[in-house]
Amino acid sequence: MTLEGTNTYLYGSDPCVVVDPGSEDPGHLEAIRAAAAERGGIGTVLLTHSHGDHSAGAERLGAEVVLPGDGEEHGGLRALATPGHAADHVCFLGAGGVCLSGDLVLGLGSTIVPPGGGSLAAFMGSLRLLQAQEIELMAPGHGPWITDPAAKLAEYVEHREMRERRLLDALEGGERSRAALLQSAWDDVPIELLPMAAMAMEAHLEKLEEEDRLPIELAE
Ligand SMILES: [Zn+2]
Repeated sequence: MTLEGTNTYLYGSDPCVVVDPGSEDPGHLEAIRAAAAERGGIGTVLLTHSHGDHSAGAERLGAEVVLPGDGEEHGGLRALATPGHAADHVCFLGAGGVCLSGDLVLGLGSTIVPPGGGSLAAFMGSLRLLQAQEIELMAPGHGPWITDPAAKLAEYVEHREMRERRLLDALEGGERSRAALLQSAWDDVPIELLPMAAMAMEAHLEKLEEEDRLPIELAE
């Protein structure tokens, strides 16, 4: 319901559930209340994950706030644990093959997978889990709806696999410093996005390390 911000979804009726209410902006919360009133009020507020841009306004809507565990069902939406972007991230599956994908898959740009806790391996597992579901329409936490979810999921998997390949190529070519690896495997990234790329690379290095595929200790 905000243009550049987080997408808020209302699902079902009598009462409806609100997914990711987003910011605490009073106008935004009032718009949610008004839309929900036409659907018989708010039964539950659901969160895809605990990041503030999805959850900040949640407690102000006067309904129970739930970040469900895997398999829990609320108001006709079934939660699917999909860690990676955040450890507590879930997607919601609804009727007719609708998937509310939170920040796992975005309508625009690329999802951030911060390093730590095996996040990238978990992220890849989450994408594959979604690939195994019958999804017709994906409604992401940011950006427009995704009308070809299979293509988008494949693109996400391939993009990460491409980076991993290029990183392994650079390692095999003898690069051992983080700066050189970044320059080699992320050479298409504009300079202002290099800090993000460096973070993405850390998640890749962590994954390779866990999988025993990192040849040696790297220099800073
Ligand atoms: Zn997030």
